[in-house]
Amino acid sequence: MESTPPFLFIEGREIPVELRVNRRARRYILKVDPFKPAILLTCPSERQKKAALAFAGERLDWIARQLSEAPTPQPFIAGTNIPLRGVDHEIINEPDKRRSVEVYASPKRIVIGGDPIHLGRRLEDWLRREARRDFSAQADLFCTQLGVDRRRITVRDTKTRWGSCSSNGTISFNWRLILSPKFVYRYVIAHEVSHLRHMDHSVLFWRTVDSLVGDRQEAESWLKDHGTSLYAYGVLPATPRNLTAA
Ligand SMILES: [Zn+2]
Repeated sequence: MESTPPFLFIEGREIPVELRVNRRARRYILKVDPFKPAILLTCPSERQKKAALAFAGERLDWIARQLSEAPTPQPFIAGTNIPLRGVDHEIINEPDKRRSVEVYASPKRIVIGGDPIHLGRRLEDWLRREARRDFSAQADLFCTQLGVDRRRITVRDTKTRWGSCSSNGTISFNWRLILSPKFVYRYVIAHEVSHLRHMDHSVLFWRTVDSLVGDRQEAESWLKDHGTSLYAYGVLPATPRNLTAA
């Protein structure tokens, strides 16, 4: 119907609205991706789109606050420090080296070979592989402890959840957790593996989680306080060009 995406004007900036229909949504769901930037809006049916936009339009102050509270982008370029497993490592580029990624302990750095143009892509691919390897190994250990069979494990770029467990037993994790301290992602893995036993958040479920990790409260509050900061990594700083829509 619309040829151009809808926009909302927030403090002089045109912010695109990504409007989606999800029949399972029971109401309007409004979220802000401060890094794109974009307003993510979900409504239950096609005919509610207009009302959903009006709903977002009534919440411009809230949207503006979400946009301004975004952490500073930490692009994947030489000189940025990234917290690999929660420990800061400086990104170093060595253009003459072959196209590889190597981690050094002293001083802590990640050396990426090859053309700097491909550095961001190469580092993100590597981080995703590290996440997949680490999280799968940890999930295997927890599965053995609980005596459950694990199914497929995927690592994805999810915006709303750190981990999930589907009814067929597939477990997914957000790859960005490889940038959180180990006790944080261990908890997320323990949480999802425990769902292979209890597909709910019952007392028995939490007891199972607690049998695997002893510090879930600390991990949960870390995610609450610092979780958003993980989304700042690999994001290029906004330039005036991508702030104004064509
Ligand atoms: Zn859960």
